[in-house]
Amino acid sequence: MTPEEEIKQLAKQRGAELVGIAAVADINRYAPPGYRPDDILPGAKSVVVFAGNITTRGAWRSPYYETIFANFDFFRIRYGISLAVAKFIESKYGYYALADTPPPVGLCPSLSLKLCAEMAGLGTRSMAGGVILNRERGVLNLMACVTTMPLKADGPLMEPVCPHASCVKLGQKRGTVPCLEACPECLSGELESGRIKWMRFDRRVCSTRAQNLSPVPLQRMLLEAEKEPDAGVRKSMLLGSFSRNALQAMASSTIVGQCGVCLRDCPVCIKGRTLKPREIKKERC
Ligand code: SF4
Ligand code: SF4
Repeated sequence: MTPEEEIKQLAKQRGAELVGIAAVADINRYAPPGYRPDDILPGAKSVVVFAGNITTRGAWRSPYYETIFANFDFFRIRYGISLAVAKFIESKYGYYALADTPPPVGLCPSLSLKLCAEMAGLGTRSMAGGVILNRERGVLNLMACVTTMPLKADGPLMEPVCPHASCVKLGQKRGTVPCLEACPECLSGELESGRIKWMRFDRRVCSTRAQNLSPVPLQRMLLEAEKEPDAGVRKSMLLGSFSRNALQAMASSTIVGQCGVCLRDCPVCIKGRTLKPREIKKERC
């Protein structure tokens, strides 16, 4: 077994659905200085990228959007997978490795996991700008381990996953696609010859609309509660369902980045979250 195969096998045993390897040189062709893997770990040569489902397929079918967050899947285990791989690389091969990257400054991540995933061949950019789409699994949740170990990179996909053929047809007919239609406030773009011509994802709008179960909105609510003169209103702010949900999300590491409404009617995501019941074999008594 090659080192690459060993690393991928370990990550899958730990719960990763997909694993790909990106070359730092490929990432650095797009990432600006200050946001590159070798800014975080000097001498970094490779990034091992792990991906999994956002939530269970059943949660996407629930009319209660909160079930998506309550059933978060890969988010809950991704740090453990990355740490196991980083420790394996260091102990078995003697190369430095990081299981996580520094926290973002504002809305700016220290390293774009989306870019790493693209360069590792796990998926491609989409019109629903906040996400990378995989042809079989739809939207991916991501994690990455940065290492100085030179590994054979998988490289980016040759064909883009987005737009789906049905979106191209819809675009020709109605001049829009499901994701843009669902969230015109955050998303805009245009298709040309069956490809994305341009797209824009306004992360500032998306974050303030959709990132409502994380430390920042909770801090903001605490500040507002502190200024609230009415004792009854203050009590409901501090003890109500918003603060409880936010604290619960943080306690279980299920902080919400996006609401996902833009992906509800995305054909690639629909395919990724659709299950076909398998025949249940009856045991003879
Ligand atoms: S996650 Fe929600 S707010 Fe953000 S782009 Fe999608 S639909 Fe809009
Ligand atoms: S709905 Fe999905 S496949 Fe279609 S354009 Fe939007 S992100 Fe791409």
